[in-house]
Amino acid sequence: MVRIFWATCPECKGRFQCHWEELRHKGIPLLCPYCGKKFLDEESPAIEE
Ligand SMILES: [Zn+2]
Repeated sequence: MVRIFWATCPECKGRFQCHWEELRHKGIPLLCPYCGKKFLDEESPAIEE
Protein backbone atom coordinates (compact mmCIF):
# COMPACT_ATOMS: atom_id res chain seq x y z
CA MET A 1 0.00 0.00 0.00
CA VAL A 2 1.35 3.38 -0.97
CA ARG A 3 1.22 6.01 1.72
CA ILE A 4 0.14 9.45 0.54
CA PHE A 5 -0.54 12.86 1.99
CA TRP A 6 -2.54 15.82 0.75
CA ALA A 7 -0.64 19.03 0.21
CA THR A 8 -2.16 22.46 -0.35
CA CYS A 9 -0.48 24.87 -2.71
CA PRO A 10 0.38 28.21 -1.02
CA GLU A 11 -0.08 29.97 -4.35
CA CYS A 12 -3.40 28.74 -5.76
CA LYS A 13 -4.70 26.75 -2.75
CA GLY A 14 -5.09 23.67 -4.92
CA ARG A 15 -5.01 20.32 -3.09
CA PHE A 16 -3.18 17.36 -4.50
CA GLN A 17 -1.82 14.00 -3.39
CA CYS A 18 1.87 13.29 -2.86
CA HIS A 19 3.76 10.12 -2.11
CA TRP A 20 4.65 10.21 1.57
CA GLU A 21 7.81 8.09 1.41
CA GLU A 22 9.25 10.16 -1.41
CA LEU A 23 8.32 13.68 -0.42
CA ARG A 24 7.25 14.13 3.21
CA HIS A 25 9.98 15.65 5.46
CA LYS A 26 12.51 15.18 2.66
CA GLY A 27 13.25 18.81 1.85
CA ILE A 28 12.28 18.07 -1.74
CA PRO A 29 10.02 20.65 -3.42
CA LEU A 30 6.50 19.57 -4.29
CA LEU A 31 5.22 20.61 -7.70
CA CYS A 32 1.70 21.98 -7.87
CA PRO A 33 -0.16 20.32 -10.77
CA TYR A 34 -2.46 23.33 -11.12
CA CYS A 35 -0.18 26.36 -11.27
CA GLY A 36 3.29 24.80 -11.45
CA LYS A 37 4.57 26.33 -8.22
CA LYS A 38 7.32 24.47 -6.39
CA PHE A 39 7.23 24.56 -2.60
CA LEU A 40 8.37 22.50 0.37
CA ASP A 41 5.89 20.46 2.39
CA GLU A 42 6.62 22.77 5.36
CA GLU A 43 5.42 25.72 3.28
CA SER A 44 2.06 24.15 2.57
CA PRO A 45 -0.72 25.98 4.46
CA ALA A 46 -2.45 22.64 5.07
CA ILE A 47 -1.23 19.05 5.15
CA GLU A 48 -3.49 16.05 5.63
CA GLU A 49 -1.84 12.73 6.26
ZN1 LIG B 1 -0.72 25.91 -7.18
